Formats: sequence, C-alpha cells, structure tokens
Amino acid sequence: MTDARRQLIDEVRARFGKRVAVTDPVEIEPWLSDWRGRYHGHSEAILAPSTTEEVAEIVRLAGALGVPLVPQGGNTGMVAGATPQEDGSALLLSLRRMNLIRSIDAEAGVAIAEAGVILANLHAAAEDADRRFPLTLGARGSCTIGGLVSTNAGGTQVLRFGTMRSLVLGVEAVLADGSVHDGLSGLKKDNRGYSLDQLLVGAEGTLGIITAAALRLVPAISGRAVAWLGLGSPADALAVLRELERGTSHVEGFEIVPDDSLSLVLKHIPGTRSPLDGEHDWHVLIELTDDGSLDEAPEALLAKLLAPLIDSGLIEDAAITSNEAQAEAFWRIRDSISEAERTDGPTLAHDISVPVGDMPRFMIEAAAEVERVFPGTLASGFGHLGDGNVHFHVRGGATAAADWYEAQAPAITRLVHDLVTAAGGSISAEHGIGQMKRDELARLAPGRVAALKAIKRALDPKGIMNPGKLIA
Ligand SMILES: Cc1cc2nc3c(=O)[nH]c(=O)nc-3n(C[C@H](O)[C@H](O)[C@H](O)COP(=O)(O)OP(=O)(O)OC[C@H]3O[C@@H](n4cnc5c(N)ncnc54)[C@H](O)[C@@H]3O)c2cc1C
Repeated sequence: MTDARRQLIDEVRARFGKRVAVTDPVEIEPWLSDWRGRYHGHSEAILAPSTTEEVAEIVRLAGALGVPLVPQGGNTGMVAGATPQEDGSALLLSLRRMNLIRSIDAEAGVAIAEAGVILANLHAAAEDADRRFPLTLGARGSCTIGGLVSTNAGGTQVLRFGTMRSLVLGVEAVLADGSVHDGLSGLKKDNRGYSLDQLLVGAEGTLGIITAAALRLVPAISGRAVAWLGLGSPADALAVLRELERGTSHVEGFEIVPDDSLSLVLKHIPGTRSPLDGEHDWHVLIELTDDGSLDEAPEALLAKLLAPLIDSGLIEDAAITSNEAQAEAFWRIRDSISEAERTDGPTLAHDISVPVGDMPRFMIEAAAEVERVFPGTLASGFGHLGDGNVHFHVRGGATAAADWYEAQAPAITRLVHDLVTAAGGSISAEHGIGQMKRDELARLAPGRVAALKAIKRALDPKGIMNPGKLIA
C-alpha cells in the first residue's frame, strides 16, 4: 500500500471511526467486480461515510493526498463504472450507509432521498404517502438513488415520465475540492448560469459525489391494464403507439418483443406461456395506468383504443387484462428475455438509441447487416420502442464455439456502433459509458469527448473523481 492510501485510511479512521474504512479483503471482495462479472478491479479499502460532512472531509483528504475515489452505490451498473481499476490505485467510496429518506412532501410531490437509498425503499415510502416515484427497473431491490442519478437511468416508465434527469429537481453533491453544492431546494426557476445539478446527472461519478437528491413524485396508481399484441413489423408497432398517443397520455410502457425472443423465453423460463394462441413475427407489451384521473376503467379505455386497430388489421391479435396475476405474467416474459438468451448461448448486448421514427427500419436493417457480415449470428432488438431505445442483442446461437464471445465480440460491437452512429443514434441509451464503452465513445465522438475532458479538467483538476471512466 502506498503511503498516501495508508495515510488516507488512517486519517478517516481517526476522524470517523474504524467502520468508516473497511480493509478486510473478504468484505471488500464482492464489490470489486461489475454486475456482469466481466471487469475485476482492486481496492485496499472501502470508505463508507454516513453523512455529507464525512463525504466532504474524505474528498478533501483524498484531494490533498492525491488518492482517487471510485463512488459506488448498489454496484448494479451495466458498464463497470463502479468497478475500481486493476492497479488498486483508487479506494472505493461506498454511499450505501447514506440511506435516509430525509423528507417526503406529498402535497408538493417531492422526496429528498440520500444517495444510498435503495430504489425499492423509495417506492415503498412514496406509496405510504399515497404518491409514486415512477422510475423503475429490474435492479430496483439493489440499485441506489446516487447510482440512478449518476447514470441518468431509464427503465420501463420513461415514455410518460422521462429518464432520471427529468425526475431530479436538484442534487446535493460534494465536488472534487471538497465543497458542497446544495441544489435540494428544487427551485422551479433558477437561471444562475450552467446547471450544476443537471451536469452531475449522468456524470458517472467523474465530477462529484452525489450525497442526496430532490426527486419528483407523481400521483399513485389506482389501476392498470396490460395488453399483449401480435403484429407484423416494428413499423406496425410504432403506428400502434402513435394511434394510442392520440387517444390518451396514460400509456406508460410500450415494449417491443421479436418472436424469436418470445420463443427463447417459452423454451428456457419455467412457467411461462404465450399470451396469444397464434404465431406472430413481432409482439408488443403495453401498460396503461390510471392515477385517478381517468373517467373509465383502464382496461375499457385500452380495449376501446385498440379495437379500430384490430379491425383495420394493423394489430393481428391482442390479449388485454386488468388481472394482476396475468399482467405480471406478461411482464415476466418481457423481463426474462436477457436471461433466456444467455441460457441459450453466448449473447452480446448493446444498449442503443436512434430517433424514434427511424427505429423500426434500423431494427430490421441493422439485424440483417450484422447477420450478413457475421454468418451464423442471430441479431434482434427488443425493449423501449417508444423511447427509440432497444437492447440490440447479437447471439452466437446454440452451436457457437466456446470462445465465440472473446473472438467475435469486439468486431461485432464495432459494426453495431458504426450502424448506430450512421443512423444519428447513441451507443449508450441508458446504461452510461463507464469502462466498457469508453474507447468506443472516443473512437466515434472525439469532439464530444474533447468537450467532456475540458469540463472534467475544470471541475476535477487533480483527477481524483472516478478516473478512467467515461473518458480516458
Ligand atoms: C437487472 C438489472 C436491470 C437494469 N435495468 C435497467 C434499465 O431498465 N434501465 C437503466 O437505465 N438501467 C438499468 N440497469 C442498470 C442501471 O444503471 C443501474 O441499475 C443503476 O442505475 C445503478 O445504480 P447503482 O446504485 O447500482 O450504481 P453503481 O452500479 O454502484 O454505480 C453506477 C455509476 O454511478 C456512479 N455512482 C454511484 N453512486 C454514486 C454517487 N453517489 N455519486 C456519484 N457517482 C455515483 C458509479 O461510480 C458508477 O459510475 C439495470 C441493472 C440491472 C442489474
């Protein structure tokens, strides 16, 4: 251990007590690899403050000693942004002990939650106050507010309420010089130049440490209807969404599923069954919610809006339900796609976006191009069609060689990213850049990276905030 890291750990212990600097390798080990288990790093300690003042003091000490910090929440991120470097030069800074919901103002629709609050706990607290925090995703039992803010997470409810960015009213954060930015008052109007709060959203811990956030709450849900549609193409799916949007602003989920993804779920996930009897090339899962403002039952409204589209043949078949067990069974199919694909063979995932109107064509053409250039692969996209964001997965198939992933992944990913860039899209729609996409971002968007680096240099001149992530 270098003198600087040893000194930082000793100082933290002296000031805040032994448990604020964990050095037991057994306790540290689970936090050194990313969620997917592809990146492994090293850190001699996890610093675990429980107040903003402690975070500020640790950052000041780290700056003075030149020790980089890697902020970490639930460690569920998809791009290894919270994984320390292999050389062990940085220490992990866990925000998990900062887990207070400081206040919930149901009237104003605002919650102030500390960085380490787990998303599911915020959901429960908002529900107790007859409100809802609308952002949700598969990792809700482990991911934290600090991580969600820092990755500008999306999820399945973005269509109606936007990504984390649009739900953050302000943040409290410790900047690289140890000063505390307090944006928690959540002013509706504030034109004092650059928005530091929004700059920190999606910064992946490279500009400062989020210690708390003021978050928008919306009215609680009083009922929902969920539909599963069978149709002929992604273009038909988008046409259905546009028609629905003409009739209501209550559609929250609109997820596209290709037939091969459904088939893999039915094959590999026990207890699943197809929602429709016939065969369809494409499927859509729709969720429409009522927050008490609808004057008819959500199921009746959804059926009324879909009926003319079924009559016209745009929709080949549909199953609509307000039965919770059936609704959950439909969602389980959608949520099990990645697991089913992995069970079937090696899978390469890309979280990409293109302009919404171009997505149907992109999904078809990009899949055909990948399968042409890499014979034997199977490519398809599923997910948030209404946001112009799909998970574009390339599978090696059941007969893929054992080293398929290592041998093919970089070239396939480069091709997918080139196609996305040519379509005016983004190589990271929801998950961020982290370590995983850093080199690809530099290759494809050098101008953007130069601007990001200039901001980074200005706010973190010593480079102690999550170095090696997002930008080199
Ligand atoms: C099963 C599953 C489903 C998912 N589904 C979705 C989805 O639908 N949509 C979506 O957008 N994402 C999804 N994700 C990924 C998503 O990015 C994370 O779940 C979440 O945003 C990260 O929260 P975390 O607390 O685990 O952060 P971590 O993984 O610990 O950290 C993520 C990044 O934020 C930084 N960070 C963490 N805390 C702080 C802080 N307090 N201050 C500054 N920086 C910080 C880290 O350094 C890192 O760069 C999914 C992940 C899983 C495992």
